[in-house]
Amino acid sequence: MMSDMETTGGCLCRAVRYAITGAPLSVIYCHCESCRKHAGAPVVALAGYKRAQLRYTAGAPQVYASSAGVGRASCGACGTPLTWEGDGGEIGPMVEMLVGTLDRPEDFAPSCHIHYAERLTWFDVADDLPRYSEWHDGGEAPACHGPAR
Ligand SMILES: [Zn+2]
Ligand SMILES: [Zn+2]
Repeated sequence: MMSDMETTGGCLCRAVRYAITGAPLSVIYCHCESCRKHAGAPVVALAGYKRAQLRYTAGAPQVYASSAGVGRASCGACGTPLTWEGDGGEIGPMVEMLVGTLDRPEDFAPSCHIHYAERLTWFDVADDLPRYSEWHDGGEAPACHGPAR
């Protein structure tokens, strides 16, 4: 049962560990500049959940308020970026985990690209997934359902 699945993850130094109950609402690539800066990476993959699905099992991250109502968590010891978190609209409080911090990232393949217009042009995206210039609110691509940024 997907609703029974538990996903674990954490930072590089293992000071911060987390567990998530249930399946993700979305798994996306985000090409926005804020995610790029936060992660120090050309693009990030994010698995989105209701905030209530997440609990920290060791340590606590520090959360940087990157804009009004938006937090970005990282480990205060090793610096690993961990989340985007904020208002998910109809979903309510939402958190997106950086897929690279999951213990089994292989299991979380993204289903679309968002903020594609902000991508680095030298980063060649060689897949056939949908590409959206802004956050995509579902409809034609339910797998990309999620909050406005
Ligand atoms: Zn750490
Ligand atoms: Zn982003």
